Amino acid sequence: MMKYDLVIAGGGAAGLAAAASFIEEQKKKGAGESASVCILEKNEYPGRKINATGGGRCNLTNKACPGKEETLDFFRNIGIETWQDSEGRYYPYTNKASDVSKALIDAVSGADIKCGFTVKVISRIQPDDGSEGCFMITGMQGSAMEMVFADKVLIAMGGKAGPQFGTTGDGYTIARTLGHTVTRVFPILTGIECRAEGVDFASLKGIRAKGTVILTKDGAPIVRDTGEIQFTEDGVSGICVFNLTPHIKADKRERFEDALKRFKIVVDLAPDFTEEQLASRESAFGILTEKLAAVFDRVGADSESGAADTARIKHWELDITGIKGWRDAQATFGGVALDEINMDTMESRLVPGLYFAGEIIDAQGPCGGFNLQNAWETGIKAARGIIDGEI
Ligand SMILES: Cc1cc2nc3c(=O)[nH]c(=O)nc-3n(C[C@H](O)[C@H](O)[C@H](O)COP(=O)(O)OP(=O)(O)OC[C@H]3O[C@@H](n4cnc5c(N)ncnc54)[C@H](O)[C@@H]3O)c2cc1C
Repeated sequence: MMKYDLVIAGGGAAGLAAAASFIEEQKKKGAGESASVCILEKNEYPGRKINATGGGRCNLTNKACPGKEETLDFFRNIGIETWQDSEGRYYPYTNKASDVSKALIDAVSGADIKCGFTVKVISRIQPDDGSEGCFMITGMQGSAMEMVFADKVLIAMGGKAGPQFGTTGDGYTIARTLGHTVTRVFPILTGIECRAEGVDFASLKGIRAKGTVILTKDGAPIVRDTGEIQFTEDGVSGICVFNLTPHIKADKRERFEDALKRFKIVVDLAPDFTEEQLASRESAFGILTEKLAAVFDRVGADSESGAADTARIKHWELDITGIKGWRDAQATFGGVALDEINMDTMESRLVPGLYFAGEIIDAQGPCGGFNLQNAWETGIKAARGIIDGEI
């Protein structure tokens, strides 16, 4: 029977940051034998999702994140320098996401990494004789059932976004069986399916336009963002659109399909121009690309004036018909309830010795490096919490 001091379930951003930080802190302590760490990862290699982040460049934090300095120090320590773009997003200096995962994997070389291991059950074993208990982690490695034991366990199995990268929500089931509450989860930071009068979205697919998007609920604006809007076969996408999605949610006991009807996106496709400036134009072409301009010119041509429908260019209402699913989502809204976790140490308030980090907890941010920041930060906090709790 193999018993580790620490088992980390999930070798993604949070799990690797936790393991690297744990090993580094152990080294700093110097004396004696270092604690044994095991990472259990479902995929054939750890950090698979990291490689896909930021369009392959890994937007690893943001200047607006209070904890960003510590993240930058952490990466510098493992050999990764960074640079900041004009919008405050940090990337590795080499612009290669796979360099980030490589540095993390190198930093955890002192851990036992079991890949192709799908964790199924985590349970606490408490002997009757009052002696100290431990955790039993049961999983499948290929077709074989395997068990590992640990004094402490960190659950860093991510959420449900991007199941193609291994995150299928397994951690929620495990957290629930350990007594934790998991709040309602839904996909966020993803495209929105829309309908607009007289518009065939399929014909706009691939067009990109600079604009402002405002999400309204029952007619009142609730959030806005500006950036590049990307048209898809059935709606809109792009970072500014992604950032609306955490706000599109149902009220308690409301069906999501019913809630959707209360939301609209109002698009301003000419944020740098006033309505007066646009009113003198005969066509939207020149501000918008030809195909997109035709949407407004056609409406204008049908109208009495025969000119472009310029008012609509700055106030284009889209009905929301759906949100793209988990495969297209970059993050999960909801997760393990925060009031059941000590957020200084990431230890469960219900099960001593159990820790959580990363997207599995009910914490989510917009695009721009905030979600990876959450993963690194909570992973590093958990590592310290585990060490301070004396392994
Ligand atoms: C395409 C894409 C691009 C993104 N780009 C950015 C970006 O640029 N900046 C940003 O801040 N955020 C980005 N995100 C979000 C960010 O990647 C996640 O929030 C972050 O990776 C979460 O870290 P985590 O460690 O909690 O989970 P993950 O990194 O998802 O890692 C969880 C790990 O647990 C493993 N696992 C799951 N279930 C089991 C199981 N049963 N047994 C064993 N292992 C299991 C998974 O295989 C996975 O390796 C992006 C997400 C996607 C999908």
